[in-house]
Amino acid sequence: MPKLAVLGQPIAHSRSPAMHTAALGALGLAEEWTYEAIEVAPDDFDSRVRSMPRGGFVGANVTVPHKLRALAIADSASPAAREIGAANTLSFTERGIEADNTDASGLIAALPVSPGGKRALVLGAGGAARACVWALAGSGAEVSVWNRTRARAEALASELDASVADLGGRPLEPSTYDLLVNATSVGLASASASASEPGDPLPDLKTLCLDADSVEARHVVVDLVYGSAETPLSMFARERGATVVDGLEVLVHQGAASLRLWTGLDPPLDVMRATARSDTIRWQQTSAPDT
Ligand code: NAP
Repeated sequence: MPKLAVLGQPIAHSRSPAMHTAALGALGLAEEWTYEAIEVAPDDFDSRVRSMPRGGFVGANVTVPHKLRALAIADSASPAAREIGAANTLSFTERGIEADNTDASGLIAALPVSPGGKRALVLGAGGAARACVWALAGSGAEVSVWNRTRARAEALASELDASVADLGGRPLEPSTYDLLVNATSVGLASASASASEPGDPLPDLKTLCLDADSVEARHVVVDLVYGSAETPLSMFARERGATVVDGLEVLVHQGAASLRLWTGLDPPLDVMRATARSDTIRWQQTSAPDT
Protein backbone atom coordinates (compact mmCIF):
# COMPACT_ATOMS: atom_id res chain seq x y z
CA MET A 1 0.00 0.00 0.00
CA PRO A 2 2.05 3.03 -1.20
CA LYS A 3 1.74 5.98 1.16
CA LEU A 4 2.13 9.72 0.45
CA ALA A 5 2.10 12.69 2.79
CA VAL A 6 2.65 16.40 3.16
CA LEU A 7 5.09 17.45 5.88
CA GLY A 8 4.97 20.88 7.48
CA GLN A 9 4.38 22.89 10.62
CA PRO A 10 1.63 24.00 10.88
CA ILE A 11 -0.11 21.59 8.50
CA ALA A 12 -3.74 21.31 9.63
CA HIS A 13 -4.82 23.99 7.11
CA SER A 14 -3.28 22.19 4.12
CA ARG A 15 -5.53 21.41 1.16
CA SER A 16 -3.07 18.86 -0.21
CA PRO A 17 -4.51 15.75 1.54
CA ALA A 18 -8.03 16.38 0.21
CA MET A 19 -6.75 17.36 -3.23
CA HIS A 20 -4.44 14.34 -3.61
CA THR A 21 -6.92 11.89 -2.11
CA ALA A 22 -9.52 13.01 -4.65
CA ALA A 23 -6.94 12.71 -7.43
CA LEU A 24 -5.93 9.19 -6.34
CA GLY A 25 -9.62 8.24 -6.34
CA ALA A 26 -10.11 9.59 -9.86
CA LEU A 27 -7.06 7.66 -11.01
CA GLY A 28 -8.53 4.44 -9.59
CA LEU A 29 -5.82 4.21 -6.92
CA ALA A 30 -7.94 4.95 -3.85
CA GLU A 31 -7.82 1.36 -2.65
CA GLU A 32 -4.04 1.18 -2.86
CA TRP A 33 -2.58 4.64 -2.23
CA THR A 34 -3.07 7.05 0.67
CA TYR A 35 -2.09 10.69 1.26
CA GLU A 36 -2.01 12.22 4.73
CA ALA A 37 -0.87 15.39 6.51
CA ILE A 38 1.95 14.96 9.03
CA GLU A 39 2.93 17.78 11.36
CA VAL A 40 6.69 17.73 11.87
CA ALA A 41 8.76 20.10 13.99
CA PRO A 42 12.06 21.26 12.47
CA ASP A 43 14.14 19.28 14.99
CA ASP A 44 12.31 16.07 14.05
CA PHE A 45 12.35 16.54 10.29
CA ASP A 46 15.45 14.50 9.36
CA SER A 47 14.59 11.47 11.47
CA ARG A 48 10.94 11.54 10.37
CA VAL A 49 11.88 11.65 6.69
CA ARG A 50 14.51 8.92 7.03
CA SER A 51 11.96 6.63 8.67
CA MET A 52 9.31 7.14 5.98
CA PRO A 53 10.43 4.54 3.42
CA ARG A 54 10.36 1.85 6.16
CA GLY A 55 6.79 2.96 6.94
CA GLY A 56 5.62 2.34 3.37
CA PHE A 57 5.90 5.93 2.10
CA VAL A 58 6.93 6.41 -1.52
CA GLY A 59 6.80 10.19 -1.56
CA ALA A 60 6.06 13.39 0.31
CA ASN A 61 5.31 17.00 -0.33
CA VAL A 62 7.22 19.38 1.91
CA THR A 63 6.06 22.80 2.94
CA VAL A 64 6.96 25.59 5.38
CA PRO A 65 9.38 25.50 7.17
CA HIS A 66 11.13 22.41 5.76
CA LYS A 67 11.90 23.09 2.08
CA LEU A 68 15.60 23.86 2.59
CA ARG A 69 16.10 20.87 4.87
CA ALA A 70 14.27 18.63 2.37
CA LEU A 71 16.93 19.42 -0.21
CA ALA A 72 19.77 19.04 2.27
CA ILE A 73 18.67 15.59 3.41
CA ALA A 74 18.20 14.16 -0.10
CA ASP A 75 20.62 11.72 -1.73
CA SER A 76 19.99 13.28 -5.14
CA ALA A 77 18.18 16.34 -6.46
CA SER A 78 16.74 17.55 -9.73
CA PRO A 79 18.36 20.59 -11.37
CA ALA A 80 15.28 22.62 -10.34
CA ALA A 81 15.62 21.76 -6.64
CA ARG A 82 19.40 22.20 -6.69
CA GLU A 83 19.40 25.54 -8.49
CA ILE A 84 16.41 26.95 -6.56
CA GLY A 85 18.00 25.72 -3.32
CA ALA A 86 14.83 24.15 -1.95
CA ALA A 87 12.66 21.07 -2.45
CA ASN A 88 8.90 20.66 -2.07
CA THR A 89 8.73 17.06 -3.31
CA LEU A 90 10.57 13.99 -2.05
CA SER A 91 10.46 10.54 -3.63
CA PHE A 92 11.65 7.46 -1.75
CA THR A 93 13.09 5.00 -4.27
CA GLU A 94 15.69 2.25 -4.40
CA ARG A 95 18.16 5.06 -5.20
CA GLY A 96 17.43 6.75 -1.88
CA ILE A 97 15.73 10.08 -1.18
CA GLU A 98 15.22 12.11 -4.36
CA ALA A 99 14.36 15.82 -4.13
CA ASP A 100 12.47 17.90 -6.66
CA ASN A 101 10.82 21.32 -6.81
CA THR A 102 7.40 21.42 -8.46
CA ASP A 103 6.64 24.95 -7.23
CA ALA A 104 8.59 26.07 -10.29
CA SER A 105 6.94 23.84 -12.90
CA GLY A 106 3.58 24.42 -11.17
CA LEU A 107 3.84 28.16 -11.72
CA ILE A 108 4.64 27.78 -15.41
CA ALA A 109 1.83 25.25 -15.91
CA ALA A 110 -0.66 27.58 -14.20
CA LEU A 111 0.12 30.49 -16.52
CA PRO A 112 -2.35 31.13 -19.33
CA VAL A 113 0.47 32.32 -21.59
CA SER A 114 4.04 31.24 -22.18
CA PRO A 115 6.39 33.57 -20.27
CA GLY A 116 9.03 33.40 -23.01
CA GLY A 117 9.98 36.92 -24.11
CA LYS A 118 7.76 38.52 -21.46
CA ARG A 119 8.93 40.99 -18.82
CA ALA A 120 8.15 39.63 -15.36
CA LEU A 121 8.30 41.33 -11.98
CA VAL A 122 8.52 38.98 -9.01
CA LEU A 123 7.66 40.50 -5.64
CA GLY A 124 9.50 38.72 -2.81
CA ALA A 125 12.81 36.99 -2.23
CA GLY A 126 11.87 34.01 -0.06
CA GLY A 127 11.61 30.37 -1.08
CA ALA A 128 8.55 30.80 -3.30
CA ALA A 129 10.10 33.79 -5.07
CA ARG A 130 13.27 31.81 -5.77
CA ALA A 131 11.21 29.09 -7.47
CA CYS A 132 9.30 31.69 -9.51
CA VAL A 133 12.42 33.55 -10.64
CA TRP A 134 14.16 30.31 -11.59
CA ALA A 135 11.12 29.06 -13.51
CA LEU A 136 10.42 32.31 -15.33
CA ALA A 137 14.04 33.02 -16.24
CA GLY A 138 14.42 29.42 -17.39
CA SER A 139 11.35 29.85 -19.60
CA GLY A 140 12.84 32.84 -21.36
CA ALA A 141 11.26 35.71 -19.42
CA GLU A 142 13.19 38.83 -18.52
CA VAL A 143 12.85 38.81 -14.73
CA SER A 144 13.13 41.65 -12.21
CA VAL A 145 12.83 41.15 -8.47
CA TRP A 146 11.53 43.54 -5.85
CA ASN A 147 11.67 42.74 -2.16
CA ARG A 148 11.03 44.67 1.04
CA THR A 149 14.54 43.74 2.16
CA ARG A 150 16.54 44.82 -0.84
CA ALA A 151 19.67 42.87 0.03
CA ARG A 152 17.73 39.62 -0.35
CA ALA A 153 16.48 40.69 -3.78
CA GLU A 154 20.04 41.50 -4.80
CA ALA A 155 21.33 38.13 -3.63
CA LEU A 156 18.53 36.28 -5.42
CA ALA A 157 18.88 38.27 -8.63
CA SER A 158 22.62 37.76 -8.88
CA GLU A 159 22.27 34.04 -8.32
CA LEU A 160 19.32 33.34 -10.61
CA ASP A 161 19.77 35.43 -13.75
CA ALA A 162 17.47 38.32 -12.85
CA SER A 163 17.81 42.03 -12.12
CA VAL A 164 16.69 44.07 -9.13
CA ALA A 165 13.68 46.27 -9.76
CA ASP A 166 14.67 49.67 -8.51
CA LEU A 167 11.35 51.30 -7.73
CA GLY A 168 13.01 53.78 -5.39
CA GLY A 169 9.93 53.81 -3.19
CA ARG A 170 7.79 54.86 -6.16
CA PRO A 171 4.84 52.79 -7.36
CA LEU A 172 5.38 50.43 -10.23
CA GLU A 173 5.16 51.88 -13.73
CA PRO A 174 2.62 49.61 -15.48
CA SER A 175 4.21 49.70 -18.92
CA THR A 176 7.41 48.14 -17.58
CA TYR A 177 6.02 44.61 -17.04
CA ASP A 178 3.74 42.04 -18.65
CA LEU A 179 3.61 39.62 -15.78
CA LEU A 180 3.42 40.39 -12.08
CA VAL A 181 3.94 37.66 -9.47
CA ASN A 182 3.28 38.19 -5.78
CA ALA A 183 5.55 35.70 -4.01
CA THR A 184 5.50 37.52 -0.68
CA SER A 185 3.16 36.56 2.13
CA VAL A 186 1.39 39.93 1.84
CA GLY A 187 -2.35 39.26 1.53
CA LEU A 188 -2.31 36.16 3.69
CA ALA A 189 -4.04 37.85 6.63
CA SER A 190 -6.89 39.15 4.45
CA ALA A 191 -7.28 35.86 2.57
CA SER A 192 -7.46 33.97 5.84
CA ALA A 193 -9.90 36.35 7.47
CA SER A 194 -13.26 34.93 8.43
CA ALA A 195 -14.94 37.81 6.61
CA SER A 196 -16.68 36.69 3.44
CA GLU A 197 -15.62 39.81 1.55
CA PRO A 198 -12.01 40.49 0.50
CA GLY A 199 -10.22 43.20 2.45
CA ASP A 200 -9.38 46.70 1.26
CA PRO A 201 -6.61 46.20 -1.33
CA LEU A 202 -4.94 49.59 -0.90
CA PRO A 203 -2.80 48.87 2.17
CA ASP A 204 -1.46 45.66 0.62
CA LEU A 205 -0.83 47.37 -2.70
CA LYS A 206 1.11 50.12 -0.96
CA THR A 207 3.18 47.55 0.94
CA LEU A 208 4.05 45.98 -2.41
CA CYS A 209 4.96 49.33 -4.04
CA LEU A 210 1.87 49.17 -6.26
CA ASP A 211 -0.79 51.81 -6.70
CA ALA A 212 -4.18 51.83 -8.38
CA ASP A 213 -2.62 52.52 -11.79
CA SER A 214 0.01 49.81 -11.53
CA VAL A 215 -2.15 47.07 -12.97
CA GLU A 216 -3.87 47.16 -16.35
CA ALA A 217 -6.04 44.81 -18.39
CA ARG A 218 -3.05 43.62 -20.44
CA HIS A 219 -1.24 42.26 -17.35
CA VAL A 220 -1.16 38.70 -16.12
CA VAL A 221 -1.13 38.83 -12.31
CA VAL A 222 -0.20 35.78 -10.24
CA ASP A 223 -0.80 35.86 -6.50
CA LEU A 224 0.73 32.80 -4.84
CA VAL A 225 -1.06 33.59 -1.59
CA TYR A 226 -4.29 31.74 -1.00
CA GLY A 227 -6.80 31.25 1.77
CA SER A 228 -10.51 30.97 2.25
CA ALA A 229 -11.14 34.34 0.60
CA GLU A 230 -9.79 36.08 -2.47
CA THR A 231 -6.65 38.08 -1.76
CA PRO A 232 -6.86 41.86 -2.04
CA LEU A 233 -4.32 41.84 -4.90
CA SER A 234 -6.26 39.22 -6.89
CA MET A 235 -9.50 41.10 -6.40
CA PHE A 236 -7.93 44.41 -7.37
CA ALA A 237 -6.24 42.99 -10.47
CA ARG A 238 -9.41 41.20 -11.57
CA GLU A 239 -11.42 44.39 -11.19
CA ARG A 240 -8.83 46.20 -13.33
CA GLY A 241 -9.46 43.61 -16.06
CA ALA A 242 -6.12 41.80 -15.69
CA THR A 243 -5.83 38.04 -16.15
CA VAL A 244 -5.53 36.65 -12.63
CA VAL A 245 -3.96 33.35 -11.63
CA ASP A 246 -4.52 32.75 -7.95
CA GLY A 247 -2.52 30.71 -5.46
CA LEU A 248 -4.91 27.77 -5.56
CA GLU A 249 -4.35 27.36 -9.28
CA VAL A 250 -0.60 27.22 -8.67
CA LEU A 251 -1.14 24.82 -5.77
CA VAL A 252 -3.12 22.49 -8.04
CA HIS A 253 -0.41 22.46 -10.69
CA GLN A 254 2.48 21.93 -8.26
CA GLY A 255 0.52 19.10 -6.65
CA ALA A 256 -0.23 17.59 -10.04
CA ALA A 257 3.45 17.67 -10.96
CA SER A 258 4.33 15.88 -7.71
CA LEU A 259 1.65 13.25 -8.28
CA ARG A 260 2.97 12.65 -11.80
CA LEU A 261 6.46 12.06 -10.38
CA TRP A 262 5.19 9.51 -7.85
CA THR A 263 2.64 7.62 -9.93
CA GLY A 264 3.82 8.18 -13.50
CA LEU A 265 0.19 8.96 -14.37
CA ASP A 266 -1.49 12.07 -15.78
CA PRO A 267 -3.15 13.83 -12.83
CA PRO A 268 -6.86 14.74 -13.05
CA LEU A 269 -6.53 18.53 -12.90
CA ASP A 270 -10.27 19.23 -12.85
CA VAL A 271 -10.80 16.96 -9.85
CA MET A 272 -7.83 18.47 -8.03
CA ARG A 273 -8.98 22.01 -8.79
CA ALA A 274 -12.55 21.36 -7.67
CA THR A 275 -11.35 19.79 -4.42
CA ALA A 276 -8.80 22.50 -3.67
CA ARG A 277 -11.51 25.12 -4.14
CA SER A 278 -14.35 23.21 -2.53
CA ASP A 279 -14.32 25.01 0.80
CA THR A 280 -13.25 28.30 -0.69
CA ILE A 281 -15.49 31.28 -1.03
CA ARG A 282 -16.35 31.41 -4.70
CA TRP A 283 -15.14 34.28 -6.76
CA GLN A 284 -14.64 34.83 -10.44
CA GLN A 285 -11.58 32.92 -11.48
CA THR A 286 -9.56 32.81 -14.64
CA SER A 287 -8.43 29.23 -15.02
CA ALA A 288 -5.38 28.30 -16.97
CA PRO A 289 -5.78 25.71 -19.71
CA ASP A 290 -5.18 22.10 -18.70
CA THR A 291 -1.79 21.72 -20.30
P1 NAP B 1 9.18 33.16 2.91
O1 NAP B 1 10.37 32.40 2.43
O2 NAP B 1 8.95 33.32 4.36
O3 NAP B 1 9.25 34.64 2.22
C1 NAP B 1 8.35 35.63 2.58
C2 NAP B 1 8.48 36.82 1.63
O4 NAP B 1 7.44 37.75 1.92
C3 NAP B 1 9.80 37.60 1.77
O5 NAP B 1 10.19 38.10 0.52
C4 NAP B 1 9.40 38.74 2.72
O6 NAP B 1 10.19 39.90 2.58
C5 NAP B 1 8.01 39.02 2.22
N1 NAP B 1 7.18 39.70 3.20
C6 NAP B 1 6.66 39.17 4.33
N2 NAP B 1 5.94 40.10 4.99
C7 NAP B 1 6.03 41.26 4.26
C8 NAP B 1 5.50 42.56 4.42
N3 NAP B 1 4.73 42.89 5.46
N4 NAP B 1 5.78 43.48 3.47
C9 NAP B 1 6.53 43.15 2.39
N5 NAP B 1 7.06 41.93 2.19
C10 NAP B 1 6.82 40.99 3.11
O7 NAP B 1 7.83 32.52 2.33
P2 NAP B 1 7.65 31.68 0.98
O8 NAP B 1 7.81 30.25 1.28
O9 NAP B 1 8.50 32.31 -0.06
O10 NAP B 1 6.08 31.89 0.67
C11 NAP B 1 5.56 33.16 0.30
C12 NAP B 1 4.05 33.04 0.08
O11 NAP B 1 3.79 32.21 -1.04
C13 NAP B 1 3.32 32.39 1.26
O12 NAP B 1 2.10 33.06 1.48
C14 NAP B 1 3.06 30.97 0.79
O13 NAP B 1 1.91 30.40 1.38
C15 NAP B 1 2.86 31.19 -0.69
N6 NAP B 1 3.14 30.00 -1.51
C16 NAP B 1 2.13 29.53 -2.29
C17 NAP B 1 2.37 28.41 -3.10
C18 NAP B 1 1.26 27.91 -3.97
O14 NAP B 1 1.35 26.78 -4.46
N7 NAP B 1 0.22 28.67 -4.20
C19 NAP B 1 3.62 27.78 -3.10
C20 NAP B 1 4.63 28.30 -2.29
C21 NAP B 1 4.36 29.43 -1.50
P3 NAP B 1 11.53 40.11 3.45
O15 NAP B 1 12.62 39.35 2.74
O16 NAP B 1 11.72 41.57 3.46
O17 NAP B 1 11.24 39.54 4.82
